[in-house]
Amino acid sequence: MKVCKFGGTSLASAQQLEKVANIIRKDKSRKIVVVSAPGKRYDGDTKVTDLLITLSSAALAGADIDGPLAKVLERYKQITDELGLEDGVMATVKQDFLERLSSDTSNPVLFSDRLKAGGEDNSARVLAAYLNDMGMGSEYINPQEAGLLLSDFPERARVLPQSYGRLASLRQKESICVFPGFFGFTETGALRTFERGGSDITGSILAAAVKAELYENFTDVDCVFAANPKIVENPIEIQQMTYREMRELSYAGFSVFHDEALMPAFKEAIPVCIKNTNNPDAPGTMIVAERSHSQNPVTGISAADGFSTLYVSKYLMNREIGFGRKLLQILEDEEISYEHIPSGIDNLSVILRNHQLAADKEERIINRVKTELEADDVHIRGGFSMVVLVGEGMNHTVGLAARATDAIARTGANIEMINQGSSEVSLVFGVLKHDEEKILKELYKEFFSPAYIH
Ligand code: ASP
Repeated sequence: MKVCKFGGTSLASAQQLEKVANIIRKDKSRKIVVVSAPGKRYDGDTKVTDLLITLSSAALAGADIDGPLAKVLERYKQITDELGLEDGVMATVKQDFLERLSSDTSNPVLFSDRLKAGGEDNSARVLAAYLNDMGMGSEYINPQEAGLLLSDFPERARVLPQSYGRLASLRQKESICVFPGFFGFTETGALRTFERGGSDITGSILAAAVKAELYENFTDVDCVFAANPKIVENPIEIQQMTYREMRELSYAGFSVFHDEALMPAFKEAIPVCIKNTNNPDAPGTMIVAERSHSQNPVTGISAADGFSTLYVSKYLMNREIGFGRKLLQILEDEEISYEHIPSGIDNLSVILRNHQLAADKEERIINRVKTELEADDVHIRGGFSMVVLVGEGMNHTVGLAARATDAIARTGANIEMINQGSSEVSLVFGVLKHDEEKILKELYKEFFSPAYIH
């Protein structure tokens, strides 16, 4: 049995749903299908999830909802009309959104979660109806009835372990199960969503629960590339990589697969294949537990901006017991998680994601570190990017770090931070954001262009 997940662009229009149906028809083992909400049809289009966020904000602000609601309904109407589905399908979709809108608004985040989830829920209803019309017996699956239980964190819920046992019974279904991605329910029956892009996570949970032979993740690119094709011209296609490599690459910008989605598949050792709905015959990229070592120790290079550093120095820091714990406690009090902590003898930097910071938080952190930890110098600086070289086998390759730093030196950029060692499969460089692109290009040249491959 295979679990297939189709992303937003695969469900963006009637033509795309036809492709999805063909893909499912071609392989009888594709028995569980997870769907996203309709995504962008063209550059500059708006995803249904974003339309729903606008709708929910309007509803919460007491503003006019007719305009934003019409935009959402129009997307489904166009799809159901063009597929020739009977009117009852669209009537159910409309009724569902009206019910979500009339639900309790006293907790805005939960209200917004309920509205956002409507994107995938109705996408699943429409696809199930269409597959049935095409004579492919299928069934819309309600995640609550199926038992997808989540923790009580709005917008970033996590799966509860008992879900796996409950969802396993989907294996017994005769029909093709169409399961909406992105959301589930708490033990008390309240709807919660995963992070954005979270339908990948639903697919992985289902694949693990039914012990699928393969989790196919259909998107709009043929494979995972060794570097961002928007920056590097014609990067090579990665045919096979390990879960760990994918995790490291998605950490810094490879958005083709949600990083939280790896864990369920990894735990059950279910291979994941990234495939293209628009070119389903392309082999795609396989993500597996172990792979044979390739000649090139580097599998891919990712880069992402949006990082800041909290720099702290204090004379004799290395001898002060509990210094690190106290510093991290201050961050915990501000609900901030950290990314890396490169350290010297009398100083350390904590690398943070910008989106967790705000001017008032920064001020409180700096004041507390100065007064409570009696630091000599404390400051927070933004504008950093992380460039990450990823590859199993990198650790055993002599001279690899030297080649990487040489390549970066050729760009004239300064390396602000290096982190190697804690992870066996990656080498992380903290650089200034404005140097990110040229560094990525030069590293790609160093490790992937034939003229440079050593
Ligand atoms: N529709 C949701 C989003 O746009 C979830 C997903 O597509 O995976 O983030």
